[in-house]
Amino acid sequence: MTSTTMIILGASGDLTKRLLLPGIGSLIAGGDESDLRLVDGLKVVGSGRSDRADEWRETISGAFEQVGATGDAVDAILSSTRYVQADPTSEEDWGSLLGEVEGDLVVYFALPPAIVSKVAAVLADLDLPEHTVLAVEKPFGDDADSAVALNEALRKVVPEERIHRVDHFLGQRAALAMLATRFNNRLLESSWNADQIERVEIVYDEKLGLEGRAGYYDTAGALRDMLQSHLLQVLAVTTCEAPSDLDPEHLRNSLAAVLSVTHVWTGGKVFPNTDAPSRRGRYTAGEVDGKRLPDYVAEEGVDPANETETLAEIALEVDNARWGGVPFVLRSGKAIGDPANEIRVTYRPVRFRPEGQTGDGHAEVLRFGFKPPRIEFQFTSGGGEMPFQLEPVEVSGRLPKSAVTEYGEVIRGVLGDDPTLSIRGDVAVQCWNIVQPVLDAWKAGEVPLEDYAAGSSGPASWS
Ligand code: NDP
Repeated sequence: MTSTTMIILGASGDLTKRLLLPGIGSLIAGGDESDLRLVDGLKVVGSGRSDRADEWRETISGAFEQVGATGDAVDAILSSTRYVQADPTSEEDWGSLLGEVEGDLVVYFALPPAIVSKVAAVLADLDLPEHTVLAVEKPFGDDADSAVALNEALRKVVPEERIHRVDHFLGQRAALAMLATRFNNRLLESSWNADQIERVEIVYDEKLGLEGRAGYYDTAGALRDMLQSHLLQVLAVTTCEAPSDLDPEHLRNSLAAVLSVTHVWTGGKVFPNTDAPSRRGRYTAGEVDGKRLPDYVAEEGVDPANETETLAEIALEVDNARWGGVPFVLRSGKAIGDPANEIRVTYRPVRFRPEGQTGDGHAEVLRFGFKPPRIEFQFTSGGGEMPFQLEPVEVSGRLPKSAVTEYGEVIRGVLGDDPTLSIRGDVAVQCWNIVQPVLDAWKAGEVPLEDYAAGSSGPASWS
């Protein structure tokens, strides 16, 4: 018996094929009993304006194969699934879509962001099943006002607790490990504050260039695409107070509280080449891993007048008793030669060091790596060949690999009606408020857009 129907809008697109369907498959391949119960009786209805009916089943089975999903649960999904050619902004087309619904309904918006509010307006006038859940992808609006309007449009369809604003970074091992490690280790828990920590960097660079995504990326850029959404969520799990328990309401209150006191850094110079609390760059032609990338502005679909940054860095302050005075630097860039992706926590130097020791003391640095998921700790030790010579030592460990993908975590939350790892409406708006001064300064031309060669680590003046 079907218990839930998931309608995927935009099922002909990249997200569905590359991430969503494998995410469902990973719950089958690597999930536990409760995950299998979630997909038991799941009917997946793909939909798009283009006709993909002939290839739909193959798309699903290919995605499931990719993550090693097999067995009865796979067979059941493949036999019940449908593809409905429909325009999600047409009320008439929703007639045939809703005709496929059995049991509860999940509507997953795998659509370009600009379409979401139009679809929500159509859904608000339809007679949807009593238990309907909406899953909406980032970016959530393109500024605070549009995020407020989108919240209102979605809340006319279903109540806030049934809106999942997806941010798959909250399902990343490193983000989940950050929460677990911070709150469950005395050494970290007691040193997790401005007295001990000098600086925190949250970096997510990648080798990839535009990869044909100009339609979306050229009006978004690195700040909107990565920092405003994903990296602010990572900042929140890095800095929030411990909730009394992991009840979704309590954890989300904790994340919301810390983001409500986060703002652009005002405490003086953070970046060596500028007094501004932000920097931006755009790649020019170069080579990454033997692959030649053209100038960003020569990529198909790019309008140079948009002045889109492909590398963004901003400094923020978390203005509370625990963190006041510590710069949090968020950075993400495309076409970076040796990309870092980690949360990097640098401790302050010790207050006193006995005379007679030689060599340099090294800052203690704790790293939570995104890919591969790992924890590394660099500290100062000694006692090698020269007994009083200080030496850096590093210990590191891979985080246990989960068979459930990041999007598996997302789907788990959506099907299980558990909003813990989704973004609350007020938080989505606050994340825009945090970055707005930077967007304004960039628009006003107050921060130069600097070139860097694809394959380098960023503009020459930054290092
Ligand atoms: P695509 O650009 O591939 O679009 C998805 C589908 O939307 C298209 O196949 C198209 O299907 C449909 N669509 C396009 N324009 C319209 C329109 N005007 N009206 C109705 N339908 C339209 O998007 P992605 O799959 O890449 O991304 C979907 C969402 O997920 C976006 O919000 C994106 O930001 C987010 N996201 C994507 C990631 C990715 O890696 N791709 C990662 C994280 C988030 P058809 O023409 O058949 O109607």
